[in-house]
Amino acid sequence: MLIDAHAHLDKYGDLLDDALRQIEEEQIFPIATAMDLSSYLPILQIAEMSDLVLPIFGIHPRRAPEYADHLSELNPIIEQSRAIGEIGLDFHWVEDSSQYPAQIKVLEYFLAAAREQKKFVNLHTKGAEEEILKLLERYDIKRAIVHWYSGPLDILRALVQFGAYFTIGVEVLYSETIQAIAKELPENLLLTETDNPGGLKWLKGVVGMPNQIEKVVDAIGKLRGVSSESLALTVHENFLRLIEPDPWLREVYAMLALSKR
Ligand SMILES: [Zn+2]
Repeated sequence: MLIDAHAHLDKYGDLLDDALRQIEEEQIFPIATAMDLSSYLPILQIAEMSDLVLPIFGIHPRRAPEYADHLSELNPIIEQSRAIGEIGLDFHWVEDSSQYPAQIKVLEYFLAAAREQKKFVNLHTKGAEEEILKLLERYDIKRAIVHWYSGPLDILRALVQFGAYFTIGVEVLYSETIQAIAKELPENLLLTETDNPGGLKWLKGVVGMPNQIEKVVDAIGKLRGVSSESLALTVHENFLRLIEPDPWLREVYAMLALSKR
């Protein structure tokens, strides 16, 4: 089983059936992260179509201003979701700093819920890596996946010390910075992702299909001097360790543990 710990399956449009077929055929396990309410509802429907898809709810930092004053209305949906994401901060692509307080408010609301409900979080950290680290410490969120990290190396190392997991995605095929991170991360905190279908589209103008995860696994394996099979197994074991204590994910844990044999 290949773990795709961050994907946006609701963005496939007409290609959704093809994507789901690939997920089943290649035995890929995608975490389908939401960006807001209007992406979570289709994600729930997609998860009905495949047992391999884990749908999770969050508000992306770019959507935060629309939700910052209505957060308690989201409580039933947060409670229903088995993990939390995509959440985070974006002080890089969002240049209008008047939006940052709303981003922080929304993120803190979700971190408090994650701590209380004992759920893992899937984080966007662009340009706000240090702020994210401080908030993880303050909210004592031990089970965190940092998605597509590209920030400063000293904060990367501090996040590693803290025990956060990191996804390496399609940019490892093209960027020396990401390749260096893929080499440096400790084996026990390494995960893989695609950010499909938009990740590859943003980098190369091509829709990312689920089997891109195979290229990511091959590339990281080469960089670290291990076979693709061994790297995939490491990632699989890491993800199992991350969700092992999770009361919401017992079924997912059982399915993934079984597929390892
Ligand atoms: Zn994303």
